[in-house]
Order: sequence, then C-alpha cells, then structure tokens
Amino acid sequence: MNTDRMAAAPTPGTHANASTAMPAGRDDDVTTRRSAGRQADVFDLVVVGAGMAGHCTALAGAEAGARVAWLEKTPRYGGSTAMCGGAFAFAGTDVQKSKGVPDSPELLEEDLMKAGGWFNDRGLVHTYAERQYDAYRWLQGLGIPFDQVSLSGMQSVPRNHGTNPREALRLLHERALASGLVSFRSDAAAARLLTRGEGAERRVIGVELAGGERLVARGGVVLATGGFSRSRELVDRFAPHLRAARPMGGEGNTGDGLRMAWALGADLVDMGFTKGTFGAPVDAPAPGHEDRAPRILSAMYRGAIVVNRAGRRFVDESLSYKVIGDRCLEQPGAVAFQVFDQQVMDQSSPLPSVADYRAAHAAGLIREAPTLAGLAAALGIDADGLAETVRRYNDARDGRSSDEFGRTSLSTGYGTPTLVERAPFYGIACTTGLTSTYCGLRTDTGARVLDVFGAPIDGLYAVGEVAGGFHGASYMSGSSLGKGCVFGRIAAADAAERARRDPAA
Ligand SMILES: Cc1cc2nc3c(=O)[nH]c(=O)nc-3n(C[C@H](O)[C@H](O)[C@H](O)COP(=O)(O)OP(=O)(O)OC[C@H]3O[C@@H](n4cnc5c(N)ncnc54)[C@H](O)[C@@H]3O)c2cc1C
Repeated sequence: MNTDRMAAAPTPGTHANASTAMPAGRDDDVTTRRSAGRQADVFDLVVVGAGMAGHCTALAGAEAGARVAWLEKTPRYGGSTAMCGGAFAFAGTDVQKSKGVPDSPELLEEDLMKAGGWFNDRGLVHTYAERQYDAYRWLQGLGIPFDQVSLSGMQSVPRNHGTNPREALRLLHERALASGLVSFRSDAAAARLLTRGEGAERRVIGVELAGGERLVARGGVVLATGGFSRSRELVDRFAPHLRAARPMGGEGNTGDGLRMAWALGADLVDMGFTKGTFGAPVDAPAPGHEDRAPRILSAMYRGAIVVNRAGRRFVDESLSYKVIGDRCLEQPGAVAFQVFDQQVMDQSSPLPSVADYRAAHAAGLIREAPTLAGLAAALGIDADGLAETVRRYNDARDGRSSDEFGRTSLSTGYGTPTLVERAPFYGIACTTGLTSTYCGLRTDTGARVLDVFGAPIDGLYAVGEVAGGFHGASYMSGSSLGKGCVFGRIAAADAAERARRDPAA
C-alpha cells in the first residue's frame, strides 16, 4: 500500500497506486508519522472514499490546513461519480440568469421537498439550498466549467448544470494532491472505525484498513463511501423490490460505510425509499463506444413518450425517472422504450450525458426509422399499438382530448410537450437501473453521524450517497453530486477545526 502525496493526479480509470508510490514514514513526509512497532500514522482528517463527496472533502480539508489521509478501496478513484451524467442541481446561477431561467434557493428547496414527498429532513435540504451557490462558485473557481443548464426529473425549472464528471474529478484530485497536505491511497479499503473511550466519552479516532493497518484522525473520520447498489445482500435486505433492477454504480459501492457506522450504533434513514432509475439502455454499446455511450438516457424530459412492448404508454412521462423506473419494472420483461422524433433528437447535447442522444445513436443504442411502423419493427414492439398510442398522444397535444396519463408538461410542470410527428423516428429499449441508493446514515446539518437516539457519534461524519435523510421518498436530478460537494465541505471544515482546537487529541 502506498501514499502518493505529491504525485501527479491519475485520471479516473488509471491505476493510482503503482506509479506514484512514496514510501511512508520518510523524514520529509509531513503527512505521515509512522514509527516502529504498532503506532498508527496520525492525520487531522481521514476521508474514506474517492468519488465526488470524497474529493470535495479532501480538498476542502487541505484548504482548511488539515493533513488528510484519503483512502479508496478500488484501484481507481471515481466511484459512481466517474460513471454518472455529470449534472449538478444549482439555483440562481449566472448560467441560469443568462438563459432567463427564474430560479432561487427557495424554489430549489421547495422542489427538493416536493420530490421527496416531504419525508426529507428539512434542515439538510435548507442547508443545501443555502450553501449550494457557494459550492457552485467554489467548483467554478477550481476550473470546472458549467456552461449548460437543462431540465430534468422533479425540477420545476431547468436547473441541471452539466459538466464532465471525470474531468471535474481530475481537477479536484490534482488540486488536492498539489496542496501537499493530502495523502491518497488506492486499493486501500477501510474496514473498521477505531474509537476511544466509553459511553458519552466515546469518540471516533481513526480507521483500521483491511490489512490491519491503523490510521489516526485527530479531527475526525469522514465516510464518503457511496451507496450499496453493488451489494446483493444489502439490496435484498433494504430494497427487495429492486431485485430485477440492473445494478449500476461504482464497483466498490457495497455499503461499507453503512456497516462501519452501524457497528457504532448509527441510525439509518430513508432505507425503504430506495428507487431505481429509468433509462438504462438494455443493449450494450457497440465496441469502441463503451466510454462515450450514456449509461442513462432521459429523452422523456425533452418530449419522448415511454411505451411497453405492446406499444402502449403506462405513465405520465413528466414524473420523476424514479417513479417511471418503478412502473417500468412492472412491464413485461421489465423493459420500456423511449420513442421520439427529430425535434427531440435536435435537442441532443453532450452534457449532461443523459441528454446525449447522438452519442447513444452512434453507439447503436438508439434505433432510427423513417416511419413509426419501421421503428416498431426495429425495436420489436407492436406496430399497431404504437401507431394508436402516438395518434392518441398527439390528439392530446393538439387539445382534441386530454392526455390519458395526465401529462401536461415536459417535467414537473415545466415546458410544453411537442407532437411526435417529424420523421425520422427514434427509439431506445431501456430498463430500470439501480444507479444509486440515496438512503443511509442519519446526519445533522453539520454532516455529523447521529446514533439511534439522535446524538452525534463524536468524530464521525458522513457525506455523499452514504448519507440518508436528504432525499426523502424520491430524488430530484442533480442533487446527489451537489450534496456531496456541499456537505463534504461542511464536514471538512468542522473536522479541520476540531483538529486545530484539540491538537493533542
Ligand atoms: C449512470 C449514473 C448516472 C448518474 N447521474 C447523476 C447526475 O447526473 N447527477 C447526480 O447528481 N447524480 C447522478 N448519479 C448519482 C451520483 O453519481 C452518485 O450518487 C454520486 O456520484 C455519489 O458520490 P459519492 O462520492 O457519494 O460516491 P461515489 O462516487 O460512488 O464514491 C464512493 C467511493 O468510495 C469507495 N469506497 C467504498 N467503500 C470503501 C471503503 N471501505 N474504503 C475506501 N473506499 C471505499 C468506492 O470504491 C467509491 O470510489 C448517477 C449515477 C449513475 C450510476
């Protein structure tokens, strides 16, 4: 296992460990103090996990002057973040203003609460709404561009600020290592939390790695381990209704952070609300397109309809892709098809990648035909059913009838759906993916993990997807990357301050 404190940042997908090794315990290595025998290395802060939340935490810790040990279980940093659509939900930004989008922190807060069915923790949501603009400016200041804004699930105005998530991670990683205060290790799984003291005196003082090595954190340990979409056992336990959903998300996302905190009596929240995401292409991308093809596509928010094998709609497509995901699993074969015309294809944009229809088309995932009958044949769905569905849908758009599923907007009351009429026609077979779990450790607005009685577990923080409470019953697009950044910065600042206040801890 190696540290690579001063090494050049590897991009997501490269091996961080092998080429960037620095022997631990060198005299000039200010980040570690390794001595003979059993004494552990001592840091101000230990960050567990290297997705968006871990990156923001590690860098913000270094900015606050903390010496940070940063662990990643897999050979590559990135987790789900490196695979994701790259959309951040921010409100009141210059990009929105330049496009005439009327948004505000208050509207964002209301949309988040509405998306979560008011089951969300209002304190967490309010903190996000208050701090998100600052996080946006911070990311921009680090060189991460946000020049596009689009509409997505449960947003009452276009609010998804698209960026390339891999490039964003690379920039954050480089900055963190360049600080000279961050020691990053890949292939380094945290296995247990270390504590000192009993009862009210107990505090988390570090982590033990899978090989038995111990790292001490004077200011605290931040769990940024992502969700549990890759743990069959935890999916069976907490989300058995999603057994048929396709596991997606980072390969290391097996719920380790949940278990480690659980062992200390941490409370869990929102577990019953875990939902899949509609829009995972059924087919594999053509060879050579694996990295460019979107992993999730949501053309319904730009005007596509969603039908089953019989060519019939079964849901209001303006609803959250989580809700559509549930309905998709009820369809024959758990498959549904997004069908659209050239007007929607013309709105394709590279970012966020969920709207990159051209990349999906080039990868062979989207089929094209000059007629609806031809498209039905290409997709293997009932041609008469599709023709009848499109006729009825277009009648509703023209005001000749009301929409049979109550669709009146592109998404959540915003935008006007167009007719499906301009050839050529396009379609893609999709299923529901378990991209993210969005439930987990209960935290307060300072990102401190709470135990089952509501008291903070001293010295333990949770940020990003491993933390529950923020989303409630469902999810507003773009809010996961955003909350990882906002709460990662909060946790880092608090832990750094604790280490400063109590240097001998
Ligand atoms: C296809 C897809 C599209 C998505 N699109 C969007 C989007 O556009 N906008 C949005 O907001 N969200 C999106 N999401 C969800 C979002 O990507 C995730 O919720 C978010 O990236 C989680 O960030 P994170 O840092 O909490 O976790 P991750 O990015 O998953 O990082 C967690 C890291 O912790 C590591 N880890 C786990 N256990 C340990 C351990 N014991 N020790 C050390 N390391 C450990 C993992 O290996 C992983 O690298 C999407 C998800 C997917 C899969």
